[in-house]
Formats: sequence, structure tokens, C-alpha cells
Amino acid sequence: MANFFHIALFIIRKLFLIDFERALFIASQIFPPSQPELSLRRMKNFFLTYFVWKFGVKLPVKPIVLQIESVRGCNFNCVMCRAGQFETRTMKFEEFKKIISEFPEACVVIMNFAGEPFLSKDLLRMVRYASDERKMLVTTFSNFSILPDPGKVIESGLYEIIASIDTFDREKFSRIREKGNLDVVVENLKRLVLERKVRGKKIPVISISAVFSRGTREDAEGIIENAIKIGVDRVKFQRLFFSAPPHLHIPTKDDFVHLFYLKQKYRNKIDVRIYNFEWGGDSMPGFCYLASSMLTIDLFGNVFPCCTPYAIFEPHKSSLGIIHPSEQRLSEEVSDILRRRAEFISKMRNAPPEFCRLCPLFKREKWANQKIKN
Ligand code: SF4
Ligand code: SF4
Repeated sequence: MANFFHIALFIIRKLFLIDFERALFIASQIFPPSQPELSLRRMKNFFLTYFVWKFGVKLPVKPIVLQIESVRGCNFNCVMCRAGQFETRTMKFEEFKKIISEFPEACVVIMNFAGEPFLSKDLLRMVRYASDERKMLVTTFSNFSILPDPGKVIESGLYEIIASIDTFDREKFSRIREKGNLDVVVENLKRLVLERKVRGKKIPVISISAVFSRGTREDAEGIIENAIKIGVDRVKFQRLFFSAPPHLHIPTKDDFVHLFYLKQKYRNKIDVRIYNFEWGGDSMPGFCYLASSMLTIDLFGNVFPCCTPYAIFEPHKSSLGIIHPSEQRLSEEVSDILRRRAEFISKMRNAPPEFCRLCPLFKREKWANQKIKN
């Protein structure tokens, strides 16, 4: 009961951080008034997913969040990702359409995985389709080096656009984000913020996401201060999964506590969020909730239970199967995948596969934040 109370408080706190225009947009996308049947399906799926996550029971739940790799490959070659080493390939618009049409219960779609999404000329078309036709909240990360016209981005139907910046130190940025130029990235970010302001809009939400490591701990406060100066809405710190020496090493609990201190310090100035740490932050405590809420589909049709880098580097270990969007049997393939997914979720807490056992998100400490505050 106490746990349920904590979760309710957690959700209420989050809602208060969202302003009215955004809250209305979120509600009307997830539960579109013009499509009561779809709204009911989604509501039912939310409840079932909660029970599956909370009690580990086996129920036919569908993913709430889809991550679809619109582009494989990148014009940067960051040390923690190395997507710059892949030959650039882009998903066809028709394939994207077919994939998301198979998942009506999904309310959110993330448009990137191992690549820069704006390398696809179809990206904004996909965003428009997912937002208008499928009533989804569309989010994308980007390295902000090749943004199209800011007006087009603002009017595209995107709910959130996230700039990946781990430091505002130019030299360090180029060392971590090889082939990247911080000045270009910041200039594009400023142009987008200005364009949204000129148009008097609050959507898309414009965020900065930083991969947080021991090597960038000293940069965290600078990121927050620059974000406030530029006028972005929020800063997200994501835990580095694998060390990428010599610059990046996975953070310790002490580093996490520092981040938590910064979140508290700037709480009245900007929304700072801390994700993917085993010790707490803005991710829900308990067993991994990504397994029961999301599904990642890469450019080749491989389907994974989550978006962790394990899926990129050793896909065979965590794949739930493969789908072929351009073939007739797509619906059958998706049904098989969902069956395997339900099996995976029901077994993962008692007999987790190796990739979950090694994952820091497998079980998060209960509300470690409270202990830190005390
Ligand atoms: S910009 Fe993003 S996709 Fe590209 S290499 Fe860096 S982390 Fe990977
Ligand atoms: S525990 Fe980690 S690897 Fe396993 S499903 Fe959750 S996020 Fe993915």
C-alpha cells in the first residue's frame, strides 16, 4: 500500500512539472476524444501493464513505448556509441507506417536508436504520421548538427526533441563526440528555442540529454546553467552503461549523489531529471519497468525488449525475434513476438537472462532519493 502511495505521489509530482498546454496535448494524444475505442484499449493496457510490472504475472500486455530505429549510422562517432562506424541506412516511410500500425496501444514512439535520425529525409513525415494518424507522442534524440529548418521542426508534430550534449567544454565535447562541433550544436539549439518562442508555442518540449559518467561529473553543473541560459525546458542525465576509456567511466554512487544535489539546487529554475541509475532518480523503483512497457525495433526488423546498448552490440543475446515490415505475414510475426515478450517478462524476475542480470536497471533501489535527502 505504501508503495502504491509512493508511485501515486511520483506521478502527481511529474504532472505538476508539466504546464497546462502540454498536459492537454499529452492527454488528447494518449486518449483521443474522437477515438473512444482506442482510448479504452490504451487505458486497459496501462492497467494490465501495471500489474505485470508490479507482480510479475503473465498477461497479454502490449508495449506502451515503441523505439523505432529510423536511421542506422551517424555523422558523429561518439566514444560511447560508435554509430559513426555503421554504413548509413534509413528506414522506408512505408515500413515505418506498417510497423506502428501493428501497435495501436503504444502511446509513445522514440525515433532513434543507433544513429542520427535527421539523416533521414523522411523523418518529419514519419513524425507527422505517428502524431496525427496514430495519435502518439513522438520523441527524438538528435546530435543537433544537421537540423532542418527550425520552423518545420516546431510544426512537425514532435512532442519532444532532445539534444545530446554531455559537456559545454568545446575540446572535451570533440573528444567524446568525435566529428562533433559544439558551436554548431549550440547554435542549432538556440535557433530552435528562438523559433518556438517566436511562434508562441510550448511544444515540442526542447531538452538536453547528457550521458553522465565519472569523466563528465565536473561538467554537469555547466550543462544545467547553459540550459537555463539558452532557454531549454529540461536537462536529462542518463547513466553511462559501459565504460569508454580514456574519457568515460561508469559513475559511482557518489557521482549519483552529486547529480541529485544539483537536481535539488536548481529545482526552482529548470526541470532536471536523472534516469537509469540503480540508486534512484526519476526512474521508478523496483524491478525493471522498461521490460513491461517498451519494445525496440531496429532498422533490420530485430525486436528487443528494451533500448539498452546490449541490443546494438550483441543483438542475438536479447532479440525476441525478427519482423519483416514489407511482407504479408507481419501481423503474424508481431503476434509471435508479443507472445515471446509476455513469456520473457513473466520469467525475468525469477530467472533473468544474462543481459538483464548484468543490467543496472534490473532492480532499482527503493526511493534512494529519500535517504539521500535525509
Ligand atoms: S550522435 Fe548519437 S547516434 Fe551519433 S554516434 Fe553519437 S551517440 Fe551515437
Ligand atoms: S533489466 Fe535492463 S536489459 Fe533487462 S529488460 Fe530491463 S532495461 Fe532491458
